[in-house]
Amino acid sequence: MRLGVLADRLVLINGETAVDIERASNGRFPAEPAQLFDTWESLAEWAATVEPDAERLPLNHLQNPVPAPRQVFGIGANYRDHVEEAAAAAGVTVSLPEAPLIFTKFRSSLSGPYDAIGLPSRNVDWEVELVVVMGLRAERVTEQDAWRYVAGLTVGQDISERALQLAGPAPQFSMGKSFPGFGPMGPVLVTPDELDDPDDLEIGCVLNDRVMQKGRTSEMVFSVAELIARISAVCPLLPGDAIFTGTPAGVGAFRKPPVFLKPGDTLVSWVKGIGELRNPVTAGHGYAEGDSTRQEVKS
Ligand code: ZN
Repeated sequence: MRLGVLADRLVLINGETAVDIERASNGRFPAEPAQLFDTWESLAEWAATVEPDAERLPLNHLQNPVPAPRQVFGIGANYRDHVEEAAAAAGVTVSLPEAPLIFTKFRSSLSGPYDAIGLPSRNVDWEVELVVVMGLRAERVTEQDAWRYVAGLTVGQDISERALQLAGPAPQFSMGKSFPGFGPMGPVLVTPDELDDPDDLEIGCVLNDRVMQKGRTSEMVFSVAELIARISAVCPLLPGDAIFTGTPAGVGAFRKPPVFLKPGDTLVSWVKGIGELRNPVTAGHGYAEGDSTRQEVKS
């Protein structure tokens, strides 16, 4: 099943067209994206029976398929090559985390697959990520059972303001990654059964036609199942919750010289088998072209 949101209504995606779920089901299933998970367990069964003559809508402007998760988790340092590039930039030896580094992206940062990224400063970086969306409440689940609780996967960008993220006596990941528009998601939510191997997907991003990141989700330090087990040991995961699972190597801050987003850029992010985000970059509140950067990022 491939699900999306068009004109603020839930749709079932079939190739290049979509079917309005509420209308095609005569009201059995909701139109409201926030209610997607209320009837999650019976949705797939119904989706397989949609009439071929149901009204077909063009996919002209898909929105964030999961705009209202109650909790959003982010994972830092979850790909070996990203840990290595960070260690090289800092001049320290590589040490993989023994437990996942977990933060939140506050919900107001989430945005759609084609929305603009408004820059608050000149230190804004990209991080393409696989995003896991929960379908059922998961509390203290085992790694072996974890995938049963997953609704689907989507593509995300964990846009990061590096100066704020790293300022102060302890890093401020949650704030540095939560400006408005810093969490593009989409274009669709894909159930795991649609993918040959949901633990091994090609992931990457392109900035202005230059490939900046390219990896495979099988290279995660902590797999999707392990992350669900570790997080749900502390926080019950609720239907609709999203987990940004970390980024592979190739972010801007660790390049020599560092590269950050600037107005006029286009950032394209993909996970093979799911789809791509295409986000234009604009000058946001606080960004002044030509100003000297007030806070330089150390890298
Ligand atoms: Zn990230």
